[in-house]
Amino acid sequence: MLEKTINYKELLKREGIKNTKHRTAILEILEESDSPKTAEQIFMSLKDKTSSIDMSTVYRTLDTFASKNLVIKSNRVDDGKALYEFNHHEHKHHLLCVGCHKLILIEDCPIGELQQMLKRKIDFDITGHKLEIYGYCHDCKNFKMASAHDGEDV
Ligand SMILES: [Zn+2]
Ligand SMILES: [Zn+2]
Repeated sequence: MLEKTINYKELLKREGIKNTKHRTAILEILEESDSPKTAEQIFMSLKDKTSSIDMSTVYRTLDTFASKNLVIKSNRVDDGKALYEFNHHEHKHHLLCVGCHKLILIEDCPIGELQQMLKRKIDFDITGHKLEIYGYCHDCKNFKMASAHDGEDV
């Protein structure tokens, strides 16, 4: 078994947020997920764990977490829906499939070298960046090609 390194109660306490069952549950869902989730997805996972929660509580909690930097809030490229992910304070990027909304984690950051170059060239201290890469995943690409082919036959 992997040792649990994150103590949610401690984390909330450190940020001055009162520890409630719902708050720790939301943190836990986000922390265990390897890709960002929408509030609705979090709400659905919560309903499995605890029955007495409503959507507005989820939104409110997520906004509190985002304001404390416990979670990172971003907007999905294609429909602008808010996505939330646990802030692991580590650097990573995702590929977003605009067909099925799947997020694929990429380990490498292609921006690092560019940052160094910019720092040298224009003396600009970069503190962070966002990179969004989107397109069609393997499954959706095959589906698209299959349906395009159907069209040709008509
Ligand atoms: Zn896809
Ligand atoms: Zn990066």
